[in-house]
Amino acid sequence: MSKKVVIIGGGIAGLSAGIYSAMNGFETRIIEMHDVAGGQCTAWDRKGYRFDYCLHWLVGTTKGAFHEIWKETNVLNDKTEIIDHEIHSQIMDDAGNEFIIYSNIDRWEKYLVDIAPEDKESIRKMCIDMRKSALLEPFALAPELRNPLDYLKILPRMLPVFNVIRKFGRLTCSEYFDRLNFKSERIKSVFFSMYGNRDFSALAFIFMLGWFNQKNAGYIKGGSYPLAQRMVDKFNGLGGKLSVRKRVENIIVENNVAKGVLLSDGTKIQADYVISAADGYSTIFSMLDGHYISKEIDFAYKNWELFTPIVQVSFGINKVIPSDSPILINISKDNSIGNTKLENGYSVMNYSFDTTMAPEGKTTIVLRYDSPWKLWEKMDAKEYKGEKLLIQKDATAYLEKVYPGISEFIEVIDVATPKTDVSYTGVKDGAYEGFMPSKTNMMKSLKMQLPKLQNFYMAGQWLFPGGGLPPSAQTGKWAVQLICKKEKQEFVFNKG
Ligand SMILES: Cc1cc2nc3c(=O)[nH]c(=O)nc-3n(C[C@H](O)[C@H](O)[C@H](O)COP(=O)(O)OP(=O)(O)OC[C@H]3O[C@@H](n4cnc5c(N)ncnc54)[C@H](O)[C@@H]3O)c2cc1C
Repeated sequence: MSKKVVIIGGGIAGLSAGIYSAMNGFETRIIEMHDVAGGQCTAWDRKGYRFDYCLHWLVGTTKGAFHEIWKETNVLNDKTEIIDHEIHSQIMDDAGNEFIIYSNIDRWEKYLVDIAPEDKESIRKMCIDMRKSALLEPFALAPELRNPLDYLKILPRMLPVFNVIRKFGRLTCSEYFDRLNFKSERIKSVFFSMYGNRDFSALAFIFMLGWFNQKNAGYIKGGSYPLAQRMVDKFNGLGGKLSVRKRVENIIVENNVAKGVLLSDGTKIQADYVISAADGYSTIFSMLDGHYISKEIDFAYKNWELFTPIVQVSFGINKVIPSDSPILINISKDNSIGNTKLENGYSVMNYSFDTTMAPEGKTTIVLRYDSPWKLWEKMDAKEYKGEKLLIQKDATAYLEKVYPGISEFIEVIDVATPKTDVSYTGVKDGAYEGFMPSKTNMMKSLKMQLPKLQNFYMAGQWLFPGGGLPPSAQTGKWAVQLICKKEKQEFVFNKG
């Protein structure tokens, strides 16, 4: 008889765990509370337009351990088309100043030196750091299964990147920019406006641009919804069972051993192993009633800053609106939309580069901005309705500034708020990528196992500050590696 694995949550971490669990011969069931799998990695259709919530880039589109996971889980296959944008983003402000971030570092370096020759040396140093970061290779094995030899083997190849980590691992972006000592007001204003006013990790900034340069962080045509569906297909094909519209209330524990889950409709599902790929906070503090907390977990949930949630205003435009840049970011700080002051500006994503996102002759455009959870958490139904109407009006006015005359072609407007995300996925305070990567937590992660609790594993974005699709899928794989170790069976990863 095969052993039973039950997985809470059908986001990317849960689907990954499900695929590897079924591949390794376990009778596997994923319990998902929403009516579709995907979690944050989702999209919805309105009048023929597709409004994507997640995918901007996927680290691992061409190589490395993440790439292997994407192939093994059917995220990438012979039919997937990868789009590498030449322009990463176009930054602007209300005064009409423009600044470009190119994906190719050589091109970006030249562009930066052209606009700020006085900063040639600082720009050169920053670009070297980014190029070195390309040498970072994620591990294929869970931390608990690595031996010192695994670390020794990668040491010579990764030495330059270790130096980057050693030098900047404990710096915020502002501290890093200060060290580089830029003189150009234009460069300083863009860099500090985008990354400087938060405790945002310098390494996160350096690595992100390094990944684009390697063309290892492309966009997959079709976006988030088909990406998650390809994983569902793989899971089903391996004989896994996905149950949607079922909410896990509690994890059943007997004598400190996880034995299954209790659903909100009262159903008990017995299992030999439980993997929670749901929201980290609700797993630990609600489904397990806070009984299994390590010092690290206690510290993290009390002290680490969360991602500020977003409002997404999606527009269906009855016209082709071409764009050279997939993302336009306005960094001006004096603007507001509804009751939110735009401390971090707003972004406009024009999906004309992906023909699957709108019917022929039409364009999907999405405006996003950060909006603190405290504005939303206590809003009643009447205020909420009013706020959504205000958002539609204000966001349309900003879109009109970017594309004058566009208003008369708007066919659909859809507003998704932090409350929308929380109600569909249960994500804590709308923090769609978990913990913000800061100078204090960037090099840290939380353990997949909780103290004293047997046969239970955590997977997903809440284990790694910064979150994202790659660590979510990777921890799903690692959870099954640990179960295989416990079962004394070889872990397989390329079946089906
Ligand atoms: C706007 C936006 C842009 C992003 N851009 C990128 C990007 O370009 N690249 C990138 O790598 N990442 C990006 N991300 C982040 C990425 O989407 C997430 O980090 C990742 O999808 C998290 O996956 P997860 O499985 O760990 O968690 P989740 O997606 O949150 O999945 C958790 C699942 O558990 C379910 N669940 C919760 N509680 C229960 C319960 N009690 N019972 C049953 N089910 C439950 C939820 O419904 C959900 O499906 C973006 C996210 C957003 C919102």
